[in-house]
Amino acid sequence: MTQKDNAPSPEGRLATKVEETLKTPVKRRTFLKVLAGSAGAAAAATTTGSCDLDAFLQDHYTELTADDKKKVFARLEKQAEKDYGRPVHISDPPPIDGVSFAFAISLSRCNGNRKCVEACVKENNQSRDPAIQYIKVAELDAGTFNLEKGDIYYDGEVPKKDKVYLPMQCNQCENPPCVKACPTKATWKEKDGIVVIDYDWCIGCRYCIAACPYEARRFNFTKPTIPAEDVNPHQGYLSNRIRPKGVVEKCHFCLHRTRKGLFPACHEACPTGARKFGDLNDPNSEVSAVLREKRVFVLKEELNTVPRLFYYFG
Ligand code: SF4
Ligand code: SF4
Repeated sequence: MTQKDNAPSPEGRLATKVEETLKTPVKRRTFLKVLAGSAGAAAAATTTGSCDLDAFLQDHYTELTADDKKKVFARLEKQAEKDYGRPVHISDPPPIDGVSFAFAISLSRCNGNRKCVEACVKENNQSRDPAIQYIKVAELDAGTFNLEKGDIYYDGEVPKKDKVYLPMQCNQCENPPCVKACPTKATWKEKDGIVVIDYDWCIGCRYCIAACPYEARRFNFTKPTIPAEDVNPHQGYLSNRIRPKGVVEKCHFCLHRTRKGLFPACHEACPTGARKFGDLNDPNSEVSAVLREKRVFVLKEELNTVPRLFYYFG
């Protein structure tokens, strides 16, 4: 073996540099500087799904001024109209002071009709082909609770005899492993408990997907396909704006709605009243009532992720 054979490959050198960078507080510009001069920069630019340098060099969302945001939103609105043939409006409603959101789902009421899945796809501009869905509903044998044996591809009439249905989506964990795993800080937890993703900062590494114990995150392998007439034009920067190819997305408690006092789309669409949503700090919210009056449980409690998605019977 020659000296040259022992030298780290360009990919190896890049990985080492990235690893070193990740040990320091990361700004995306820092991250890019590390990649600069290597083929990685071009690869990363492609991964973001945008060759727009302005987009690529954009500061972290939490550092954007009101003026920066105006420019960013205008750029994204123009791009969305060009790509999808429909004018859209992008805003970023902030968390409401003192509000802490949570969801509770009644497994006695859920009958597996998947109306929530449909409504979520429409509200949140999820790709129709290939289909991306934030909610998975598992069909389980009544009396058992083995998620491994749950069928998320069930079809036919529902509810079936001797089955229960368990909808799953992002748990907006209080200790989110996905946030810890993200090397560029493209995902974080907001004051109201919602774990958000800045799609302009996501580099598509998918570490967060691997870290999430609830399989709540989805990756856009292709540019999302949404017919113009189906595009929801009321969009949030950190929620339902149309994602570019090569980034990760997930449930965000419909923050563009809920921070304005509306219920999430899946909640509104549920015909059985299985979904209860609201502010944990408001004793009169329906979710507070459930937590007070029912025996609730969370998934994989032993992992100490502390979910904000509760389940109950009754
Ligand atoms: Fe993150 Fe997964 Fe928890 Fe959602 S469920 S906050 S994606 S770890
Ligand atoms: Fe989808 Fe909104 Fe329901 Fe989350 S809260 S599953 S984003 S409809």
